Amino acid sequence: MAPQPEGVRAYLEDAAGYAAEAAAACTRCMLCVAGCVSYRSLRDPRFSPPERLRLALRVLRGEVRDWRRALPLYACSMCRACTVLCPFRIEVWRVVHAARVRLAVEGRGPPSLAALAECVERGGHSFTDDPEQPRRLLLEAARKAGVGVDEPADYLYVPSAFETTPMYVGKLVNVLRALRRAGVSVTVSPRALDLGGNAAVDAARPDVGVKQFQRAVEVAEEVGARRLLTAVCGADLKAAMFGEEYFGLKREASRLTHVYQVLRGRVRCDGCRLHASCFVSRFTGLRPPLEAPWTRDRPPYTLCCGGGGGVNFAREPEIAELRRRIYAWRARALPPGRVVTACIKCYVSMSTGLLYAGRRDVRLELVTDVLASG
Ligand code: SF4
Ligand code: SF4
Repeated sequence: MAPQPEGVRAYLEDAAGYAAEAAAACTRCMLCVAGCVSYRSLRDPRFSPPERLRLALRVLRGEVRDWRRALPLYACSMCRACTVLCPFRIEVWRVVHAARVRLAVEGRGPPSLAALAECVERGGHSFTDDPEQPRRLLLEAARKAGVGVDEPADYLYVPSAFETTPMYVGKLVNVLRALRRAGVSVTVSPRALDLGGNAAVDAARPDVGVKQFQRAVEVAEEVGARRLLTAVCGADLKAAMFGEEYFGLKREASRLTHVYQVLRGRVRCDGCRLHASCFVSRFTGLRPPLEAPWTRDRPPYTLCCGGGGGVNFAREPEIAELRRRIYAWRARALPPGRVVTACIKCYVSMSTGLLYAGRRDVRLELVTDVLASG
């Protein structure tokens, strides 16, 4: 095996041991497939959770050494729905992630995901190694929302990478407005543009992602912010979990807070239906501060948006085609009318899926959009 960054060896060894036990325990009962958005949309047994588990084990054993031969791993959104349905609670997502980490650190993963990790390492932002534009967008958003920059505050808000792109910067303005409206003491910094979850989870480089996380903690300390505040993206939360267990992030991870922990109280949203992201339904059990019924599927069995785990970021045509099919299927399963999601990644994935599926009867919003305008 090629030399590995610090922490990765222990992570892979633990995952390989767990994967072998899990594959032996798995009875192929297929109870898990009902929750797997990727299997249900692609209808191919290679994309079912038990087959992914076995493929990931082969990667971890060094028997599969090319991402093209491990394609089902790149269509797993790491949503954990299979785990809640499995009688043995097998953590397929975690084994899938470890297998992808092995391919990534050996330089055998999809090049577009390697490029994402390089952007984070060089420029501190998932989508560019020249962070001038994201910095400018962050400063503009802070000005519009009336939020200070690099000022002492209770919280340093670190946006998701989407929020500092021209297409989604309006979402950032609404998050900051919702925080201000709720009386939360918050600041932002052009030196903390990204918390590293996309690199750690989607690009399968937890070593790179956790360093980025660490940098954000240092910025918070420098500006005098008590804690980090994040957008609700499952990747950042998962990065904190890996970081805590394998990459020495314990103290920093314990300082991570997300927007729905500080936006207290409930706002009624008549005519809305809530989509529960993996973060809300399975990784935290949190209910966002919006009073509205869930979409047809409910936590913890909520079907994932399909966009986590790097499916959304990979540019290779083989993965892009899978993404198109997964997103379109997922969008067809949404009810008509006003659908509100708690997660920016779900918002991006599902709004893309609505375009693929030609659905014009769904109006998709973020919880923070509703809070900012209400
Ligand atoms: S539910 Fe669990 S045991 Fe059954 S096929 Fe899925 S992973 Fe295997
Ligand atoms: S983690 Fe989600 S996408 Fe991946 S195998 Fe399980 S249910 Fe399917």
